Amino acid sequence: MQKLHVSDIHKRFGSVEVLKGISLDAAAGDVISIIGSSGSGKSTFLRCINMLERPNSGSIAVNGEALELTADRRDGTLRAKNAAQLQRMRARLSMVFQNFCLWSHMSVLDNVVEAPVSVLRVPRKEAVERAKANLGKVGLNLDVCDRYPSQLSGGQQQRVAIARALSMEPDVMLFDEPTSALDPELVGEVLRVMQALAEEGRTMVVVTHEMAFARHLSSKVMLLHAGRVEEEGAPAELFDNPRSARLQQFLSGRL
Ligand code: ADP
Ligand code: MG
Repeated sequence: MQKLHVSDIHKRFGSVEVLKGISLDAAAGDVISIIGSSGSGKSTFLRCINMLERPNSGSIAVNGEALELTADRRDGTLRAKNAAQLQRMRARLSMVFQNFCLWSHMSVLDNVVEAPVSVLRVPRKEAVERAKANLGKVGLNLDVCDRYPSQLSGGQQQRVAIARALSMEPDVMLFDEPTSALDPELVGEVLRVMQALAEEGRTMVVVTHEMAFARHLSSKVMLLHAGRVEEEGAPAELFDNPRSARLQQFLSGRL
C-alpha cells in the first residue's frame, strides 16, 4: 500500500493553470525529491497535498484512505467534505516550511507540544516527554526548551520545526525548501537531521535545491517545469543521464 497517493492534481490561480496534472506515489520509506526552477509549481503542489491550497481537480490518499473532496459552489475548487477527516489526514502529513513557521509567542517546548496535545489529545506530560526526545533527536540541547524562536539561530529554529513535525508521528513528512532561508553555514546541521530521517526509513517528500541531498538520499527525483513533471526517476538515472533538454539545462544552471 502507498503511504501517499496523489493523482492528477490541477490548480489554477484565476485563469493561470500553475499545476497541469501532477501525480506522486510514495511507498513506506521513500524519499521523493522535487526539484525545479522558481515558479515551476513546487510549493503549490506540496500545499495541495495537505490542502493548504485547494486544487481544481485531482485526488489524495494517505495510507490508503482517500480524502473526500467536493467542488466548492463558488469557485469550483475542491475542498474537504468532512472537516474531521481533513484534520486527521493533515495530522498524518506534517509539513516543514522554508521560513520555519514557528509560533513566535510560544516557547520552543510549547511549539513542539501544542499540536499533539490539541489535535491528537496526547496527555501533556506524555507530549512533553515526546517533545524532549524529538528535540534531542534533531540535535538540540534541552536548554532551548524555555527559549522563544527569535532567540535561536535559523538552523536551530528549523530543527525545532522538524521536531514539531516529528511529534505528530506523521506517516509522511513534507518539506518545502527547508534549507533555503538559512545562512550557508547553517545548512549542514539541518541537512544532517534530514539525512538521519531518510536513513531511518521515514517517508518524505522534499522540495529542495540541495542537489547532493536529491542525488544521494532520495529514492526518486521529480523535475517540475511550468506545472508539469518534466522528468522523473531514480536519482542516478536522472543526474547521470538526463534525457530532457530541460533537466540538462536545470542541472547545468541554465534554467
Ligand atoms: P515554486 O515553489 O516552484 O517556486 P510556486 O508553487 O510558489 O512555485 O508558484 C507557481 C506559480 O503559481 C508561480 O507563477 C506563482 O506566481 C503562482 N502562484 C503561487 N501562489 C499563488 C497565489 N496565491 N496566487 C496567485 N498565483 C500564485
Ligand atoms: Mg516554492
